[in-house]
Amino acid sequence: MHQRSNKIDLHVHSTASDGILTPSEVVRLALERGLNVIALTDHDTLGGVAEAQQAATGTELKVIPGVEINSEGEWGALHFLGYYVDPENGPLREKLQAMLDARLSRARKMIRRLGELGMPLDWDEVRTLAGGKSIGRPHVARALVNRGYVETTQEAFESFIARDGPAYIPRPRLGPPEVIQAIVGAGGVPVLAHPAHSGPAAVERVPEFVSYGLRGVEVYYPDHSPQDVEKLLGLCREHDLIATGGSDFHGPGIEEGAPLGSVYVPPGCVERLREGRGYRAPTGRPSPYTSQR
Ligand code: AMP
Ligand code: FE
Ligand code: FE
Ligand code: ZN
Repeated sequence: MHQRSNKIDLHVHSTASDGILTPSEVVRLALERGLNVIALTDHDTLGGVAEAQQAATGTELKVIPGVEINSEGEWGALHFLGYYVDPENGPLREKLQAMLDARLSRARKMIRRLGELGMPLDWDEVRTLAGGKSIGRPHVARALVNRGYVETTQEAFESFIARDGPAYIPRPRLGPPEVIQAIVGAGGVPVLAHPAHSGPAAVERVPEFVSYGLRGVEVYYPDHSPQDVEKLLGLCREHDLIATGGSDFHGPGIEEGAPLGSVYVPPGCVERLREGRGYRAPTGRPSPYTSQR
């Protein structure tokens, strides 16, 4: 039997990063839609997971702890999803904290640059939009819209803050091997997010990422074509990778991503992710995280 409507969404953002619903509001919406599993995958932070899990306690909904880590450089955009990471894992927390700090100083620089370009913004205004958490270019884009400098966030990116834009400031990022190893080291399952959306280089490098420990690929994604899906399913078969799917929901009315629960997720996907979790120490001893389940 085909599922008529999807009950799972494995790629969801909240106000812990650049989504516009709080983790509790995301959970409420997921329950309204009759979902039974979501993974909260905010950019560079696990800060929303506890609230979402708390809000889902005693309901039909399971919240998988997740994170989306951006690894981007001269090679282009690459995003990795980490499922079932231990939010208390020290090395992962340190790496994420360093990225959050770098995001703050980079946002300040972008605001300064935009001021020089004749579009002054207040630091506090952008900070407030970001809720003081994982601040990113989407927050800057929304501030530019609020001030009337541009019509849409898309225009803000295209005219000013996309990679080749005049107010783009890069931020320090981890390389792909470091991202994958940080996720694995925290007991998580690393999955390459939306490879075809990121670009051909992301798709071509799947075998290399497998050599670092990649376990899955986000095959089903709002703007992946049927050809993209075929190609990615082929890579999953060839390398024994878990095929996942997710909407990249950022909130109602937000251009990025698609509605919560609107993207197909293959049967058995969540079970395979769950089986793949748990850091296995080199000695063969299970970590405390694995044994406490
Ligand atoms: P940052 O991590 O601060 O560099 O911002 C990256 C985020 O900006 C991505 O995760 C997307 O949410 C968003 N983004 C990147 N490029 C664009 C674009 N061209 N149009 C709209 N949103 C974008
Ligand atoms: Fe985002
Ligand atoms: Fe992404
Ligand atoms: Zn995302």
